[in-house]
Amino acid sequence: MSTFDYAPAPESRAIVSIDSAYGLFINGKFVPGKTHFPAINPATGEKLSKISQASTADVNKAVSSARNAYQKTWSKMPPAERAKYLYRIARILQERAREFAVLETLDNGKPIRESRDVDIPLVAAHFFYHAGWADKLQYAGCGDNPKPHGVVGAIIPWNFPLLMLAWKIAPALATGNTIVLKPAETTSLTALLFAQVCQQAELPAGVVNILTGDGKVGAALVNHPDVDKIAFTGSTDVGKTIARSVAHSGKSLTLELGGKGANIIFEDAAIDEAVEGIVNGIFFNQGHVCCAGSRLLVQEGIHDEVLDKLKRRMSQIRLGDPMDKNTDIGAINSSEQLAKIKELSAAGIREGGESWSPECALPDKGFWFPPTIFTGVTQAHRIAREEIFGPVLSVLTFRTPQEAMEKANNTPFGLSAGIWSEKGSRILWAAKHLQAGVIWANTFNKFDPTSPFGGYKESGWGREGGRHGLGAYFKGGNHD
Ligand code: NAD
Repeated sequence: MSTFDYAPAPESRAIVSIDSAYGLFINGKFVPGKTHFPAINPATGEKLSKISQASTADVNKAVSSARNAYQKTWSKMPPAERAKYLYRIARILQERAREFAVLETLDNGKPIRESRDVDIPLVAAHFFYHAGWADKLQYAGCGDNPKPHGVVGAIIPWNFPLLMLAWKIAPALATGNTIVLKPAETTSLTALLFAQVCQQAELPAGVVNILTGDGKVGAALVNHPDVDKIAFTGSTDVGKTIARSVAHSGKSLTLELGGKGANIIFEDAAIDEAVEGIVNGIFFNQGHVCCAGSRLLVQEGIHDEVLDKLKRRMSQIRLGDPMDKNTDIGAINSSEQLAKIKELSAAGIREGGESWSPECALPDKGFWFPPTIFTGVTQAHRIAREEIFGPVLSVLTFRTPQEAMEKANNTPFGLSAGIWSEKGSRILWAAKHLQAGVIWANTFNKFDPTSPFGGYKESGWGREGGRHGLGAYFKGGNHD
């Protein structure tokens, strides 16, 4: 095959202005922190800024500012007025979309094509969607006059920094709660730019508070007696710790945790489309996706054909500068995450799996891992059981549809699954038998604010998005 070289098409970073240091966003103002940690561009190792580490006193101040705003302003405001603020935020996010996309890519390492075309449009869509609900909450299926909890404490991970923020802040505000949000320590910059958007939208002080820092800040928020509801997205281990801390406290809790999604290819599937779906399922966002299709289950009769086509397709994936508009796979978000991916991949080889990656040069600086598939994997291997959260696919086979279901469900997780088949009846049958919160048919990794998202088993409690997601933000709503 003749090669087709792409000229570099770098996005300019001139649109963003990054401060040398950032404070905490409490009661509508930026307050300088006492200690700081660096924000690093994972694609280059460049230090982008200094981020404040919130103290316990800062957590207390942020919670009391959220309480005050809840009692004096936000809970008293007519819902249609609350909606106007959400619409205003949504429109500002659209106006400043390019700035947010560039900043997200610099801070997170994800390709600009994804932050520009997926993350930021979905963020704005979440605010628009929830703005629409704010004055129609009596129709959400949670009673005639559903009541907000009060103060929400939200803790989010680094894989979709601004999108996870939107998943928490938009429903919390639409339902009349105020919020204190803690971004992940490696990706604080777009949350801090969002704080500026709150100022620009003239959102009443204290309705949104943003505290940066490590897990200790998250734990202080979880254990704060004046927080009424915790909304957490992150790892299953931390989710379990939070569930223990919150038990018997009277706080409401939603958990969006890890996954080990099965992407199941039946032999009647359209193979070329399925190969695109496999690539999207595991290499989108460097595989830093809770609902990634990280376990490929291929029916035996088509195994060789699928693997040949998959390898050929993977050879065309472009890995490199996330700011280049041609890039498919960007940088791994942190040295810690890279070490975890390397450790699990080494375990895969030790346990007898066979690893394959296309030829691809990794940049000298920053954190990188090539797209990788493992064949010869069994259910017992760690790479088939544990979440790798990187661009690594474990390939397993099955003979009968029944066996596919058993293998797909043989995991402590239950977040996502994909079914590839031309037969509608097979898709419906499989969807009925799969224990996963989100099931895609002949597609993968499709998100929409109107559609509920969440997991079973160790993948979490509750749903986010759609009408179902609203219930978690009401007293006595779902998942209390
Ligand atoms: P993580 O659990 O290490 O951290 C998540 C957040 O929790 C961070 O902000 C962190 O500072 C904070 N935190 C750490 N210790 C804490 C504690 N003891 N108490 C309170 N907060 C604490 O997870 P991560 O590595 O940032 O993110 C990756 C994980 O997130 C993966 O497992 C992924 O599957 C999951 N995730 C799930 C969803 C979903 O919707 N189900 C979405 C995205 C990511």
